[in-house]
Amino acid sequence: MRATTFLRLKLREAAFISKALLSTNHVVLAHIIPMRRCNLACGYCNEYDHDSKPVPLELMKQRLDKLAELGTSVVTISGGELHAGSNQAPE
Ligand code: SF4
Repeated sequence: MRATTFLRLKLREAAFISKALLSTNHVVLAHIIPMRRCNLACGYCNEYDHDSKPVPLELMKQRLDKLAELGTSVVTISGGELHAGSNQAPE
């Protein structure tokens, strides 16, 4: 990794941590699981099942808008496989 890239990443990390410490009225990190359905069963994963219905796309958009409204710094997405038995393709 180039020194300038490393420095830029460290500055970004410091800004993220500073914002998290200085502003306690915003969400720092939100982890969303829009779908738990998955055809696989990886040993390290507990984010899947064969029964849960996916969160409807419009509801998920509303939730993401709310996270944006709350000033969420980081949103991570995980869960099952988006294409496992669903006709709800990501946009
Ligand atoms: S969601 Fe991903 S990690 Fe989990 S069982 Fe399915 S393929 Fe594996």
